[in-house]
Amino acid sequence: MGVVKLIIIVLLVWTGFWLLKKFKKPADRLDQKSSINKMLACSVCKVHFPENEAIIQNNKVYCSKEHLE
Ligand SMILES: [Zn+2]
Repeated sequence: MGVVKLIIIVLLVWTGFWLLKKFKKPADRLDQKSSINKMLACSVCKVHFPENEAIIQNNKVYCSKEHLE
């Protein structure tokens, strides 16, 4: 009986962790999308970088001052 109980407890704990992981991940992704700036692509080198680091001129996006010139 003791071993069966132990296995059931382990399974329940494992399932609990699995469910936590499963339900946590999509929420984290949503948080990242809303809190972290959206990514933009440089018109020169096509590198993706956060919007707050972008240099925008004439409706074009640049990753650095070097690519602006
Ligand atoms: Zn660039």
